[in-house]
Amino acid sequence: MTNRVFNFGAGPSMMPEAVLDRARADMLDWRHSGMSPMEVSHRSNLFQDLLIEIQQKCREIFSIPSHYQVLFLAGGAQGQFAAVPLNLTAKNSQVDYLHSGVWSGLAVEEAQKYAQVNVAASGQSSQFFSFPEPHNWQLNPEAAYFYYCVNETITGLRLRHLPSISVPIVADMTSCFGAENFDINQYGIVFSSAQKNLGQAGVTIVIVREDLLDLALPTVPGILHYAKQAKADSCVNTPPTYAIYILGLMLDWMKEQGGLLAIEKMNQRKAKLLYDYLETTDFYQPFVDPAYRSIINVSFRLANENQTSAFVSAAEKAGLVGLKGHKKLGGIRASLYNAITEKMVEALVSFMKEFAAKAG
Ligand SMILES: *Cc1c(COP(=O)(O)O)cnc(C)c1O
Repeated sequence: MTNRVFNFGAGPSMMPEAVLDRARADMLDWRHSGMSPMEVSHRSNLFQDLLIEIQQKCREIFSIPSHYQVLFLAGGAQGQFAAVPLNLTAKNSQVDYLHSGVWSGLAVEEAQKYAQVNVAASGQSSQFFSFPEPHNWQLNPEAAYFYYCVNETITGLRLRHLPSISVPIVADMTSCFGAENFDINQYGIVFSSAQKNLGQAGVTIVIVREDLLDLALPTVPGILHYAKQAKADSCVNTPPTYAIYILGLMLDWMKEQGGLLAIEKMNQRKAKLLYDYLETTDFYQPFVDPAYRSIINVSFRLANENQTSAFVSAAEKAGLVGLKGHKKLGGIRASLYNAITEKMVEALVSFMKEFAAKAG
């Protein structure tokens, strides 16, 4: 028996115990090298073979065709907030962004340093708990690309429907990549750092359509340069080797669970457990408009906000941690990333019922 807690934190997040066990077994002698995965040269055949394997696993699990490059970069998702405009605006500096919350807001701020940003729509007037309908967006058909954050992690706002968009679409999928199905063919670029659904912080998966590789400004730092990184198999410099190794274990785990569609179904069931309960009570109040609710990050407040900190500490005592809402929002947020099981969500809902019964 271990004393591991159920970690509902927004990230770095919980990992499946099977993956941690595997990492422990490999720690002193990985693949008969006499070294841990983190002690191996990134130029060695051992690591280069691992990179090829993980590329192939990504292509299989996410159905990525050969005209997309799969890069494993450092700098986090926020590194991509700069890399995207730097890599795509040499010929045309007009770009379209949706402002749907904190993460896309930071992406807008970063892009404004390098490009002429048009905010095509903003959810600011509804405090990012809802979003304007697509027919109200002010899209620029001349833009070099259209950028949005699919799942805003802090509020738990999920943008489900895009109108038809003729320019390349760039998506920050950091909090839903690996947790929900998507069709890569609709995108020019998809990126996600790993620490939400795919392991440990340090590596960012960047999937780039090949026709977008020669649009880079001359000032792009080499380590963020998509074409250079593609040519060097993500090894322009030392890549985050251990985070890449862990990503490989997470992809194996995903395959064992039945792949992306099976994982999405499980995640939908988990979210339904929690939202269904939230519908039955006034004690807890979800923040986000039902049409835009995330299945990954579920945010709500207690009707009596004075009870929030008592809720968080009682939950911790019950082994349910990481539930305190983001400081910009307050309230409670339960992040239901891949390693959270249905049983853990059931435990959370039982706890919430008990707390409401005692306090209400
Ligand atoms: C966590 C998160 C980020 C920030 O990721 P870093 O790897 O810390 O830069 C960006 N976008 C979204 C949607 C996130 O959830």
